[in-house]
Amino acid sequence: PAEQEVPEEGKKTLVVLGTGWGSVSLLKKLDTENYNVIVISPRNYFLFTPLLPSCTTGQIEHRSIMEPVRNFLRHKKTAVKFYEAEATKIDYKKKVVYINDESEIKGNVRTSEIAFDMLVVGVGAENATFGIPGVREHGLFLKEVGDAQKIRRRIMDCCETAVFRDQSPEERARLLHMVVVGGGPTGVEFAGELQDFFQDDLRKWIPEIQDNFHVTLVEALPNVLPMFSKQLIDYTERTFKEETITIRTKTMVKKVHEKYIEAESTGPDGQKITENIPYGLLVWATGNALRPVVKDLMMQIPAQKDSRRGLLVNEYLVVKGTEDIWAVGDCAIANYAPTAQVASQEGAFLARLFNNIAKTQAIEDKLSQLSDLQSKAPNKEERDQVFADIKELQKRLRRVKQMGPFEYSHQGSLAYIGSDKAVADISWLTGNVATGGGLTYIFWRSAYLSMCWSMRNRILVVMDWAKTKMFGRDVSRE
Ligand code: FAD
Ligand code: NAD
Repeated sequence: PAEQEVPEEGKKTLVVLGTGWGSVSLLKKLDTENYNVIVISPRNYFLFTPLLPSCTTGQIEHRSIMEPVRNFLRHKKTAVKFYEAEATKIDYKKKVVYINDESEIKGNVRTSEIAFDMLVVGVGAENATFGIPGVREHGLFLKEVGDAQKIRRRIMDCCETAVFRDQSPEERARLLHMVVVGGGPTGVEFAGELQDFFQDDLRKWIPEIQDNFHVTLVEALPNVLPMFSKQLIDYTERTFKEETITIRTKTMVKKVHEKYIEAESTGPDGQKITENIPYGLLVWATGNALRPVVKDLMMQIPAQKDSRRGLLVNEYLVVKGTEDIWAVGDCAIANYAPTAQVASQEGAFLARLFNNIAKTQAIEDKLSQLSDLQSKAPNKEERDQVFADIKELQKRLRRVKQMGPFEYSHQGSLAYIGSDKAVADISWLTGNVATGGGLTYIFWRSAYLSMCWSMRNRILVVMDWAKTKMFGRDVSRE
């Protein structure tokens, strides 16, 4: 039989799925004493994704941008239960989440079900491949810590294999061709980091790769970084040219083979040309796709049937067609871009909302007690006192209930583009400021540092930056 949670009497069970930007920002601000809180995620840590591209080259060590959830959950006022497991199905009618322990070590029990009164879905998204054959078999993604480690190993493997004795010039060129597909911020930041790695360290340590190491960024649209202003797109493309990164825009990858990709590009005359591009490393960064558990939930709810990209939510982030399910971050569609900024603001909003719901409940309970008391009060004086208390509480109740809907406040977009340069579209007082260059890079570094989860993360990141400056990146292949 399924293990029964032992809920504290009178409290609702709030189940939170995921430990990413959305869920963790909710948990950070939630008054946990109001609910029986249960967190379910296959990852027992929070990952500061903006610095993940730096982990692919060893500029930053991955543990510096991870924060164990146990570490911050233990500081909450009331204990929060955490299960390292994947939610495999949400049954919204039965109000149950089915979970599965997918980790390496299997105990006798691997599956369970958790009943909820309230549910927050913050499971993020998967990597989009658009069903293009060969991507999953031959390409590497950049979403999780394990992905960054794989890329780091593969870069070194390509370099060492390229200089293996008697390697032919063609094979050497192929192995040292680093192809990045997707000119969104993930692809651009990774390409910049990789070129830095080559410029600062690799070419000094392995001089034989000097002439062949090359980074190419492939993008289907006419330009990279579509969410940035035209001026910053031009600046990025110019900087990449100086860094000798090739940008192939209007080029759509159609198929991936073990050693080359098939890409279709559009020539200036509008003619379509198909070509084979050999590669040693292929990093696939073409955006987000729905997770199966989200897709399955959408299929159960008639109001979600026309949505393709994620769970449609209302202005209070309630999943449309349900009453007790909320969604945050990349799995929710609230007309904002799928970014950490949006996810963390949504999480913080839900924390306020849930804290308010609990306060409302407490005031309503107190009000009903007081009205009982009023009818039983022996004299007028006491009745008047209770009446005054009721008035005061009603005023408080109105204030608490006045919470407005979620409003996103855009702080700007930032991206690292290599050679100590960054681009930033920042909302500033009355207007937008678009800037690029070395100073922006210092701003980028300080902004990301201030956004890091904890002081421990901040110190570790600064130490990693200093270590790289002093000793270079570590080129040993683990
Ligand atoms: P995530 O942070 O992805 O978290 C999802 C959580 O759900 C994870 O803990 C995961 O383990 C868990 N989970 C997955 N499946 C299940 C399941 N079945 N059951 C339970 N839990 C599950 N955004 C910015 O604003 N600025 C940036 O600079 C920036 N840089 C980025 C760099 C990279 C390389 C990447 C990949 C993304 C970047 N983003 C950035 C985007 C940002 O990371 C995402 O928008 C953000 O992580 C979304 O938050 P989330 O909580 O929805 O999902
Ligand atoms: P994205 O969706 O922003 O970009 C993917 C790109 O891949 C698109 O430009 C698309 O045209 C291209 N593409 C798709 N299929 C292709 C194909 N077959 N061949 C060639 N090109 C193809 O994806 P992302 O960069 O992974 O970003 C995902 C989300 O995370 C976005 O919302 C982004 O803003 C956010 N993010 C932000 C930052 C930052 O702010 N610095 C960094 C990383 C990610």
